[in-house]
Amino acid sequence: MGGFLYEGKTKIVEVVDDDSVILTFKDDITAGDGAKHDVMQKKGQMCSEITSRLMHYLNTKGIYTMFMNYIPPNKIRARKLKMIPLEVIVRFKKAGSFVRRYGGQEGEDLSSPLVEFTYKSDVMHDPLMCVEHLEVLGILDKNTALKVIESAKESAKLLKEFFEIHNFELWDIKFEYGIDSEGNICLGDEISPDTMRLRKAGEIFDKDIYRRNLGNPMEKYEVVLRVCQSILL
Ligand code: 5GP
Repeated sequence: MGGFLYEGKTKIVEVVDDDSVILTFKDDITAGDGAKHDVMQKKGQMCSEITSRLMHYLNTKGIYTMFMNYIPPNKIRARKLKMIPLEVIVRFKKAGSFVRRYGGQEGEDLSSPLVEFTYKSDVMHDPLMCVEHLEVLGILDKNTALKVIESAKESAKLLKEFFEIHNFELWDIKFEYGIDSEGNICLGDEISPDTMRLRKAGEIFDKDIYRRNLGNPMEKYEVVLRVCQSILL
């Protein structure tokens, strides 16, 4: 049953048994659909621990996530899922591709949280999809898509509230979902500064530091890790 399943840009997935996998977080960091790529010491360690603690936090708040145990320094035992090839983005403020598509200023509030779906494909540059695309293309039925929207909004709200306690602003976040062996939707993949925009007093604590060549992102990831260590496993 054990063995190799899949190696992605930042993670290796190995099957352990019928219900679980081991995710190994690599030190690789990429941007621009893989066009920019570097290796940064301790990144895998930090992102796996941040993911573990934030998913555990969500579990305690009633959100169903893949997280089972953290295996230091850089692995997670997680529920085995059939991943849905979508990025589910929740935005509280305008930034990044939202500003490029629809205009406005970076950091401007949205009137209410916005959920967007993009199809995971580097060659197609993750095209934006509405619920009807998901239905017509056979990716998700409407009911499941609506459940994913609700779960993503709730998870993002809980994380925003957590970071607010520590004086950080969560601007946006990207989730990925899978389906477990019983057909339930489950939050998978990663929750870390690689997958969110996290700001404090105008300072950047997320992958935009790397995307925009603004210095060493690992120093800021370390700060986020310390905040997340307030969540006890
Ligand atoms: P945007 O669409 O504005 O570039 O990104 C919105 C949010 O989703 C940001 O927090 C960003 O980090 C995250 N995000 C979007 N696409 C990706 C992706 O391909 N990989 C990762 N790690 N995060 C992404």
